[in-house]
Parts: sequence; C-alpha cells; structure tokens
Amino acid sequence: MTAWYPGASRMTLQPEASQQPAIRPTQMIVHSIVAPWTPRRLYEYWRDSTSLESHFGLGYDGSLGQYLPVTTRADANASANRRPDGTGAVSVETASNTSASDPWTEQQVEALIRLGVWLHQVHGIPLRICRTPDDPGYGWHRLHAAWSTGGTACPGAARVTQFREVVFPGIAARATGQTTTPGRAPEEDDMALSDEDVARIAAAVWRTDGILRSPSTAAEGNTHWTADSYLRNLHSLVRGLPEAAARQVALYKDTRLDPRDARQMWDDAASPHHTWQFRPDGSERDAWGLLTATAAEVAALRSVVATLAAGGGLDAAEIQAAAEAGARAFASELGRELTDGRG
Ligand SMILES: [Zn+2]
Repeated sequence: MTAWYPGASRMTLQPEASQQPAIRPTQMIVHSIVAPWTPRRLYEYWRDSTSLESHFGLGYDGSLGQYLPVTTRADANASANRRPDGTGAVSVETASNTSASDPWTEQQVEALIRLGVWLHQVHGIPLRICRTPDDPGYGWHRLHAAWSTGGTACPGAARVTQFREVVFPGIAARATGQTTTPGRAPEEDDMALSDEDVARIAAAVWRTDGILRSPSTAAEGNTHWTADSYLRNLHSLVRGLPEAAARQVALYKDTRLDPRDARQMWDDAASPHHTWQFRPDGSERDAWGLLTATAAEVAALRSVVATLAAGGGLDAAEIQAAAEAGARAFASELGRELTDGRG
C-alpha cells in the first residue's frame, strides 16, 4: 500500500508531513479553492500562509500535486480530518474561478475519477456517497455540516451536480470495470475528449520514438522509427507503385528499347520479380535476353516458312501448323526458363 499517488507530482509540505498524526483514509472529499491556481501555487500558498491544507491540489489542466501522504492527517475538513478511531478523509483542493461558480474542466473531471479509483483500489474507500459525516465513501465539502466549521458553499453548486452525475459515477464504473453506457467495452472511457485531448493523444501515438524498430531499409544507426515515419514511408512506396507499373508496361511496349536500358528500368522500378536477374545455370543470358532472342527466332522461322510457301512446297494449312509449332516451342522454352529462374 502506498501513501503517495503515482498520478501526482510530489510536493511535500513540511512540517505537516512529518508532524501531523497518521490516519487510515476512509473518505475522499473534494473542494474548490476559489482561485485559478496550479498545484505549485497551492503548495506555495499552504507552505507560506494558511495551514488548512489538503492532500491534493488539482489544476485546471488536470495536473495534480500531492502535499501529504494520504495516511497523514490534512486539515481541510474539520471533524473529518481525523476521528478518534484513527480514520480520516483524503481531501482534494481544485482550481476554480474566484467565485467558485464554474464547473470542473474535462481534464479535472478525468483526474478526479482516476484519483477516486486509486483510493478505492489501493486504500479500500467504498464506492458510495458518504451517508453520514463518518460514513466511509466519497463526498464534497458542503455535503455534511460536520466537515466544516461554520458552514461552507464549497465546492459550488455546479461542481456538486458534476460530482453526483459524472465524477462519482465515473469512479464507480471504472473501479468495477463497468461503464454507465450499456454495450460499451469496460476499458472504454466514458468521458468525452476535447479537441485538445485528441490532438495531444494523436501526437503522442504518432510521434513517440524509441518503440517501433526501424525497417531494414532505414539508414544505419537509425534503430527506431516513429509510427509517423512508418506511415509516411508506406505512403511514398504506394505512391511510387503506379510509376513502377507504367515503367514495366513501357518495357514490353517499346521494342526499340536497348535491353540494358530496359533491365535498368525494371530494376529501378523495384519489381518484385528479381528472377529477371537470377541465372540458375550461371550463363550471361537473362530472361529479357531470352525473350528478345526467341522472338527473333520465331520471326526468322515465319520468314523461312513464308519463303517455302512462296516456292509452292506447302499449302496454307501446313504453313499454319508450322507457325503454331514454332509458337508452342517458344512458349515452352520461355516457361522453362522462367520456372528455373524462380529457383
Ligand atoms: Zn472546501
């Protein structure tokens, strides 16, 4: 069991942390400070002036400071600070406007829910609104008169409503792995995210380095890529595919192309068919060479057949049969070479 919440920045308040008696925390009570302060400013306020400190201070942006262990008495809740049986309340001060009339920001609501869940899971605060001043559970400062000296409006009407309708249901739902909306997965967050939240999360997801190992094509020494880099690289590869395809089409169409240029174009196009460069028999002939040479041989054969036909030695059917035989021989030879080439 830890007395320091991992989700808060520790700003230990002395001498209170060393001198005030221990408690067993059984309640969480929320307040509004009536000032738009940061956790740091709250710390300075309690360090330098009043001693009615809370355990936690929550800024508008959801940042949280912790000033005392939750197992040490804080002084913001009158009789709830520490009872004769040693139990006491964990108090949470929150930034507000100077009349404590504004609702908590979405970030504050989220931070209150997370802290509430932690207090339930680590310190066993039961998931209910405190029914009496001594009843273990969750509440807001003005909920019970015994929690203040002479009465208080804290934390303000808007926040009381928010605590009843959003914060406490959020704590209860998340602490028990349930959500208040049927049909949604338990790990889903019931809190609406602001545009700013979404932008911050997206930036963290896409631009965090040091997690994803870089691909084999990355520059030497560049061991990791961000998700952003991966996506941009994929985008550029996909964008290059139509050009690669166009080059391959040109390779077949442009018969005037020098075979070496064609080879180069093919390689440049990053074709997956690297069999064009593979010579299983160790010869210099490649598949492109085979294609052009075979086409020339077929053309020569046609010419010979045509000459023979002109001399009257063959009829039309015999010429057709000879041409088909030549074509089959061409296809057969080409197929064997390509199959070998795929090795
Ligand atoms: Zn208060």
